[in-house]
Amino acid sequence: MTYSVDRRDFLQTLVGGTAAVSLGALAARPARAQDAGSPIHSQKLTDSLLLFTGDGGNVIVARDGDGLALVDGGLPERSHELLKQVRDETGAEHIHTLFNTHWHPRQTGSNEPIGNEGATIIAHENTRLWLCYANPVPGENRMYGPLPAKARPNKTFFYNSEQVTIGGEPVEYGYLLQAHTDGDIYVHFKKSNVLAAGGVVSGAGWPIIDYHTGGWIVGMTQGIASLINVADANTRIIPAHGPVLTKADLVEQHKMYSTIASRLQRAIRKGMGPDEVVAQNPTAEFNAKWGDPKAFVKMAFESLWGHFAPDAS
Ligand SMILES: [Zn+2]
Repeated sequence: MTYSVDRRDFLQTLVGGTAAVSLGALAARPARAQDAGSPIHSQKLTDSLLLFTGDGGNVIVARDGDGLALVDGGLPERSHELLKQVRDETGAEHIHTLFNTHWHPRQTGSNEPIGNEGATIIAHENTRLWLCYANPVPGENRMYGPLPAKARPNKTFFYNSEQVTIGGEPVEYGYLLQAHTDGDIYVHFKKSNVLAAGGVVSGAGWPIIDYHTGGWIVGMTQGIASLINVADANTRIIPAHGPVLTKADLVEQHKMYSTIASRLQRAIRKGMGPDEVVAQNPTAEFNAKWGDPKAFVKMAFESLWGHFAPDAS
C-alpha cells in the first residue's frame, strides 16, 4: 500500500465533492475500492512483528512461542483470506490473543473466526457494548453487528491502561477516552517500540469522527496528546489505515486538530450552522496536504453538538 493510493482512495470515499455530507450521507457511498480486491501485503516490523495491509485496515501480527497475537483483524469479508495469509507467512496456526482498537468493522472483522477458536479478545468495554448491537458503519451503506457472543471482546477494561506479556515482551494497552469513537485504545509493544494507534490517528487523509458512537474533534486532539506521551522519537506508530507514522507526525496532527477545534468551537458559540462553517473554510492552511475538507469539517463541527453548553452567564 502506498501513501498516494491509500490517500486518494480514502478521499474518494470521504468527500464526494459536496458540503452537504453527514455521517448518514456518507453511509450512502460505496466501500473503498481497495476493499474489493486489493492484495494483502505484509511488512516486517521486527523479528516477531509483522504489519499486514490491504484489506481495509492495518493489522499487526505478533509471533510468540504460543502462537499469534493480532491487533485488529481487518474487514469481515476479507477475514478468511487475511487469516490464511497470516498463518502461511508466520507458520503458526494458533491465534491466542486479539486486540480491538475500536468497534468498526475494519478492526473487528476477524473477531468471529478468532473468537470461535477460543482466543482472548481484548478491548475497551465500550467496544464490547457497541458490538452487542447493530450500528451504522460510518461511510458505508450498511449496519454492523450485533456480533455473536463468542466474537465479542471477553477481556475488557474501563480506565487507564493494562499490560500483558506476549513473547516475553510487555504490551501495554490503554484507553484514549472519547476520540474517534468512545472505545478507542492504543496497543504499545514496549520492547519493539511499535504503537498501534487505531482510528485516533489518520495515516491517510482527513479522518472520520464517528460521533454516533461517541467520537468528537476535541477528543481526537486529547487522544493524540495521550499517544504523544506514550511515544518517543523512535516509536513506529501504526494508524488504523495508511502508512507507518512517527511521533513528529502526531505532534503535527495534534497542532492541526487543536487549531481546527478552536475555530469550530468559536463558530458554534456564534450560533453558526454546519454549512456556514464549511463555507468559512476553517482548515484552509491544511487543505493542500490533507485534501478537500468539506465532509470532515461538517462532521467535526457536528461532533461538538453533544458537548456544547451555552455560557451560564
Ligand atoms: Zn474506525
